[in-house]
Amino acid sequence: MENVRGVEMHYYAVCKRKLWLFHKGIRFENDGHDRVIEGKILHEQAYSKLQKDIGTEEFVKIDRQDGDVLREIKLTSKMQKADRLQMLYYLYILKQKGICKTGLLSYTKEKKTIEVHLDTQGEQDVRMALANIHGILQGNIPAFQKRTYCGKCAYKDFCFSGEVEQDES
Ligand code: SF4
Repeated sequence: MENVRGVEMHYYAVCKRKLWLFHKGIRFENDGHDRVIEGKILHEQAYSKLQKDIGTEEFVKIDRQDGDVLREIKLTSKMQKADRLQMLYYLYILKQKGICKTGLLSYTKEKKTIEVHLDTQGEQDVRMALANIHGILQGNIPAFQKRTYCGKCAYKDFCFSGEVEQDES
């Protein structure tokens, strides 16, 4: 089975189509999209004194580490469900190596921090997500479903160029 990257766990929770496109190497990261640039600046500047870009595996990069705490830095909590799943995934991978940590999601614009603990439900959520992701990646590109997030997505131009829309489910 192919490894799933942390960011792919996030994309899974946001949009299955985005996950599929990203995994297949179709990228629009250098298109000057405001959201992409904003994210890169945030990544460089926020909590800059803490240890950066911790890689437990080649496919996992955690924003910051501070002792027993892993921290992911986000602009806003609009995608908190996806942020939580991504953090649970990091905690899950570390647990497989016998390392127990607490996750923190830091939302800089709102100046708030959410704690994430890998409990039994969290482990189940990660296992189910991994099984679903592997299924999605083995199939054809998921159909375009218009979402509120689409306007800020780097794949917007691709998805809105002649695709037939389906209702968001
Ligand atoms: S533009 Fe919308 S449908 Fe297309 S990948 Fe992005 S979020 Fe998904």
